[in-house]
Amino acid sequence: MSETQTVRTRFAPSPTGYLHIGGARTALFNWLFSRHNKGEFVLRVEDTDQLRSTEESTNAILDAMKWLGLDWDDGPYFQAERVSTHREMVQKLIDEGKAYYCVCTPAELEDKRKKALAEGRKPKYDGTCRDKNLGKKENSVVRFKTSSLGMTIVDDLIKGTVTFNNDELDDLIIERSDGYPTYNFAVVVDDADMGITHVIRGDDHLNNTPRQILLYDALGYEIPYFAHVPMILGADKARLSKRHGATSVMAYKEMGYLPEALVNYLVRLGWSHGDQEIFTSEELIDYFTLEAVGKSAAVFNPEKLLWLNQHYIKESTGEKLAQKARAFFENLDVDASDMQYLQKVVSDLRTRSKTLVDMAASGAFYFKDEIDYDEKAADTFLKIEYAGHLEAVAETLPSVGEFTKEGIETFLRNIAETRETKLKFIAQPLRVALTGKTVSPGIDEVMITLGKDKIVRRIRRALDYMKG
Ligand code: GLU
Repeated sequence: MSETQTVRTRFAPSPTGYLHIGGARTALFNWLFSRHNKGEFVLRVEDTDQLRSTEESTNAILDAMKWLGLDWDDGPYFQAERVSTHREMVQKLIDEGKAYYCVCTPAELEDKRKKALAEGRKPKYDGTCRDKNLGKKENSVVRFKTSSLGMTIVDDLIKGTVTFNNDELDDLIIERSDGYPTYNFAVVVDDADMGITHVIRGDDHLNNTPRQILLYDALGYEIPYFAHVPMILGADKARLSKRHGATSVMAYKEMGYLPEALVNYLVRLGWSHGDQEIFTSEELIDYFTLEAVGKSAAVFNPEKLLWLNQHYIKESTGEKLAQKARAFFENLDVDASDMQYLQKVVSDLRTRSKTLVDMAASGAFYFKDEIDYDEKAADTFLKIEYAGHLEAVAETLPSVGEFTKEGIETFLRNIAETRETKLKFIAQPLRVALTGKTVSPGIDEVMITLGKDKIVRRIRRALDYMKG
């Protein structure tokens, strides 16, 4: 690629399931690399597998990318809509004698495969149809004539130089009997047509790369740069799977994670910048290079992701966080539509929530006057001996002028003094009356957010309970 050429990366998911952690990291690295280089990021849906591709999965993948903030500049392209281009290129190779029709049946190929294995040879297509010059037949496939001489070298931006002996490569099928191109062929034609300069993908594709390079050459295309990213493992060093926890990006959304936390977590799976753990997206774009991507596999650590999520929740502003948190409160059947009120609620809860699910569960009490009392909390603090204290709070409350942290503290202290008791015997019964629990945000914060009317209503209800 020339100095002046624009960097173009792409993410090319197959729509056969949700966007998983590994795919999201690949997409993120491509996105960051293009943003860092002021280039373009292309999205291409590789849906030529007619049986396994679904529209539902395409939508799920696009939704997950949008949620993560991975916006694309070009696309989405759909590979299945480009099949006539792929066929033209297959025909070109046939016309040039670089590809041929093959009529070997799956049963024949299977017999040959077994025989090779029994004789201790590596199974490989034996070239039966290679020089027969066959025309297209029912059930025929098209194979690419791969030279068995020499070597193909992959100069990988992450893995370094990787050498493959060409005699290990097969006469690869490039068009299936149903007329659709295979992955290795379609990906080359599309990447070349779409001007992709850097192919950044999982290292499970490294073995495909020499085949693709030979196809680039045969088709007369310029070969792009390749960067194969090491895979992600679970704590037990096995390839990341559902056994290790949720692997779907959107499952993290549902569990109350913020996209910023997931992005920050994903980028550190294989990439680093000194000891820095927390990055703004501007910093990521500024710092991201492929040189800083490690060669070895990364280990997925759910605790670290949770820690980052807690950090991002704490750092979020009330307004943005309220918008994200609303659905989680509404899942608990409370009406959280008053955004101003919700903003105050999330501000109280921000510093003490690991996830938005967590936040909603601990903060649902803000939205219902008829709160459920935690049994132990009620047994300990909603006792008749504290009724007088709560009555005093309800009676004096309207006269509190300044409803601030300091104002409330003075108010509660005064009541404790007048009633000759310790502050905690005022504050704890009050806390249970207002929140149903013994653990909650600071009583002053809760009171400011609830406001006087709600406080009085809740105290009256607690008094009924005590006297009941
Ligand atoms: N559709 C392929 C996959 O999802 C793309 C691989 C590539 O990036 O070349 O694995």
